[in-house]
Amino acid sequence: MTKALNRNYYNDEKLSKDELLFFKKALEEKREKIEKNVKLTSNNVENGDKCHLKDEADQASNLIDTHTTNAIIKEQTKSLNQINRCLNKIATGRYGICNMCEETIDIERLKVKIFAEYCISCREIIEQQ
Ligand SMILES: [Zn+2]
Repeated sequence: MTKALNRNYYNDEKLSKDELLFFKKALEEKREKIEKNVKLTSNNVENGDKCHLKDEADQASNLIDTHTTNAIIKEQTKSLNQINRCLNKIATGRYGICNMCEETIDIERLKVKIFAEYCISCREIIEQQ
């Protein structure tokens, strides 16, 4: 009896299967979009490199474009890593659990910040440091 009660309590604390599925789907959609974007951006860079540039001004602007593009790709790769880490956590049942205090992260917080790895209290402590 006590065991059954504890188990229910435990389940209530953690994200439900449906909730996890919701986040899994959202993460996979995000990943798909970013992967498409990265492909498009990389293609643009390759095409840009193949162009014969007329003068120095063109070269300079192309350089800036490549620089910006690289920054975008870097940012997107970072997001992809975060998504993969979250998906991995969902698979292992660790998603939605604070990295620091092991408490369940509020679902409303996860909906806003899907990559959240810390609960609000721990996040505040980290930001103060
Ligand atoms: Zn915490």
